[in-house]
Parts: sequence; C-alpha cells; structure tokens
Amino acid sequence: MDYFPAFLDLNERACLVVGGGNVALRKIRLLRSAGARLTVVAPETVAAIDEMAGRDELIVRRRKFVPGDVRGAWLVVSATGDEDVEDRVFAAASDAGIFCNSVDSIDRCSYITPAIVDRSPLVVAISSGGKAPVLARQLRERLEGMLPARLARLGALAGRWRERVGKRIGSALGRRRFWEQVLTGPVADDVLAGREDRAERRMADALDRNTVESGGVAWLVGAGPGDPGLLTLRALQLMQAADVILHDRLVSDEVLALARRDADLIAVGKNPAGKSVRQEEINALLVKYVRQGKRVCRLKGGDPFIFGRGGEEAEALDAAGCRYEVIPGITAAAGCAAYSGIPLTHRDAAQSVVLLTAHGQDNVDKLDWPSLARDRQTLAVYMGVRRFPELMNRLIEHGRKADTPIAIVERGTTPEQRVIRGTLGQLTLLAEAHRVRSPSILIVGDVAASALSQYNHFSATDSSSESTIRLTR
Ligand code: SAH
Repeated sequence: MDYFPAFLDLNERACLVVGGGNVALRKIRLLRSAGARLTVVAPETVAAIDEMAGRDELIVRRRKFVPGDVRGAWLVVSATGDEDVEDRVFAAASDAGIFCNSVDSIDRCSYITPAIVDRSPLVVAISSGGKAPVLARQLRERLEGMLPARLARLGALAGRWRERVGKRIGSALGRRRFWEQVLTGPVADDVLAGREDRAERRMADALDRNTVESGGVAWLVGAGPGDPGLLTLRALQLMQAADVILHDRLVSDEVLALARRDADLIAVGKNPAGKSVRQEEINALLVKYVRQGKRVCRLKGGDPFIFGRGGEEAEALDAAGCRYEVIPGITAAAGCAAYSGIPLTHRDAAQSVVLLTAHGQDNVDKLDWPSLARDRQTLAVYMGVRRFPELMNRLIEHGRKADTPIAIVERGTTPEQRVIRGTLGQLTLLAEAHRVRSPSILIVGDVAASALSQYNHFSATDSSSESTIRLTR
C-alpha cells in the first residue's frame, strides 16, 4: 500500500486553499461540505468564491501566497496552475509538518484525495495511488450506479437508532445479527423505496418485540427487451440483492450475467421444446420462496405488467400475504421502436399507440377490429407471429389500407436484431420469406415508414472519422 487510507475530521478546522480559479472552487466546495474553516489566498478569485466570502463562509486574502500563510492550517490544497507557486506552497507546508495536496502534481502531494461516492454518512473512497485516476473514476461511476441514492437515508436511519438498539440488545453478537437483519430486510426495503415512516414504525416494532420481520420479498422486475443497457438502476440493484432469481427465457444472457454471483438462477419461461412451467407453478414457487424468507427477484422480459402476466403474479403474492414490489421495465414496443428508428407517436402520423396481443384464437376474436383498423394510430402487436395472416386480413377487411407501412422487429435491442419493413398487404409474405421467429413485435402504421426508417441501432453509420478525438500536445 503506497498510501494510508483515512477519513479526516475537518469540522471547524482551519484549512488553506491557495488559488482562486474553478479547480480551487471545486476543492473549496468539497472541504466546506466536510465543515472545514477555509482561508483562500489568491490575487484573483472567481465570482462563486467571492459570493461565499460575502456570506462569511470563508476568508479571502486577495494577494500572492507567502510561506507564512500555512501557519495554523491542518491541511493545505494548492491549485494555482503555476509550478513555482506550487513548489513554494508544498515546501512551506512540508517544513511546517502540514499535509499538502497540489492538484496537478503527485510529486507535490503528501496526501492525495480519492474518487468518492457520497452517500453520507456512507462514503466510498477509491484511490489508484495517483497511478490511474481515470480508472479510479470509472470504478466510482460503476459504484454510483450500483449503490442506491437512498443508501444515505438508510445510513442516517441506522445512525438515529444506534443508541436505542445498543441499550435494548446487550450482546455485541446479538446487535450485529439485529443490524444484519434490519439492513437486508423490510426496514431497508422501505427506506430504499422512499417509505421512511413505515421503516421507522418497523424499527420501533422490531425493538419492542425483539424480533425482526422475515426478510422474504418478491420483486417483480422488468428486465427490458434484451440490451442490458436498458435495465433500470433499480433492476440492477435488486438483481444484486436477490437470493433467488426466477427468470423468463426471454431474459437475455447478457442481462443474467449481471445477477449476483451466488444467487440461484431458475428459468421458468418456455423452454426451446415449447414446454413451459405453468403460471400456477410460477406463482406457487414465488410464494414458497418468499415464505422461506428468501429475497426473490422475478425477472421478466420488458415490463412486468405488459403482457407478462406480472399482474397475476402480484395477485398471487398479495393473496398469500407476501411482501412484493413491482419495478417497471422498458417494454418491447418502446425498445424495438427506438432501436429501429420508429417514433411510435410521431405528430405527423399518429395520435395514439395501441399495445395489443394476438396470442391465442380467443384473444384474436375478442379484439375490436373496427377500432384497430382506424387511421392515425400505431399498433404494436405482441406475440403475433403465428397470427400474421389473420391480423393482415382482418385489418384490411375492416378498412386499414393495404399499403399501410409495417415493420417487424425480431429480437429487438439484441445484436441479432432484424428489422423487416414493408406494407400491411405484404405482411404474410414478408414473414414467410424472412422466416420471422418469436420474439418479434409487429408495428403497423405510417410511423413505420418515418424519415428515420433506414435507421437501425446496430448498423447505424459510423461517423468515427469525424468523432475521432485528436490528441494534441
Ligand atoms: N412483458 C413483455 C412482453 C412479454 S410477451 C414486454 O413488456 O415487452 C412476449 C412478447 O413480447 C414476444 O412474443 C414479442 O412479441 C415481444 N418481445 C419481447 N421481447 C422482444 C424483443 N427483444 N424483440 C421483439 N419482440 C419482443
């Protein structure tokens, strides 16, 4: 270890910042958020620093640095951009035994500042010892995505209850168990979902009765149409928190690769032989695991409440008295349209978009054909491949023009995405000629021939010659 990691208590302690530009300003803000008492020395200062001085938040000495400035400071930051000045600041601080950081040069630092993820009171600090700051920053960005923003609130709640828990539970081991259960159970779930009042009540209850409620919960999570980049942050966080992941076969391998390593992965969708786990069995599995106290992530393609039977799963959990939560996802129609340049409700062509399914004869018979055949609306048909002939005939029969543009998007948002364009009258022929397979979505309406209709996310022209960043010395 080249550097010793530590968190400094700077509250009300004198710190010196040399320099008055924007880099200095960033450091000033950070130091102030830790409560430091700041003096800024610089011949010129940016307006934001002047304003802080005006509000008595810091003292500005508008002149050049002199070695005596370091006297009395606990910490010095130098951000002048002038090597001679930086040299002198570092020398003065070192002579006086004061830690000093010169922002541009590691050689003039007796301490370095890490990249941080701030969920105060929780703070993650990352350092590459000055060797690869960009790498440290990238790691920080990944952590930012993984750590829920409300983790800060959870840390604050733990802080508020620490003393009371200490008084109530005598043994250190007992306290640790208690906190482990609280921080992975319903209390944490409530705080992270923004229900703090309920979390407080649960805490009071738990201490009263000396038991923490079972952590069992089912999260009905939308995994989006395939591209892992289309997962929500919350979906990712819950995939990381789960003990068991029950996933549809539609959920892509790339998405599953982001699941917690030691979670049990169970596929419950249709298998390649067409045999599927029945919905009742899935519901029963969900209830069983939740009752065992497991944290179950029910990972569903697209959005859980759009043709995903997520509604039925929620009802089953509700009826069984199990805790559950629904996390929306990007539905196939939205994902496929975006990745194939189809603005679903382009003002010039459509006032509404209808999501419908053509799965099963029963459903097809119940559809309101006269309404679906009307102009100026976009249809997005789920689970329709086997019913294309009927869809085509009925829509045309009820008055939709045979030359209405259509697009079939197969395995949209994945690298295997295919977009087949044509007209409604050609639907059956096109699907046969191109051997269209499920999962595919059919989009019917003028928007399918929009000006962007040559756009395809996966073959979008590469303008790299223009976007290359020139490295100049
Ligand atoms: N809940 C899902 C839909 C489940 S029904 C959602 O909101 O997207 C399954 C149907 O969704 C498939 O038959 C297909 O019509 C559509 N679908 C799902 N993923 C798709 C994808 N990557 N590309 C094209 N269609 C997809």
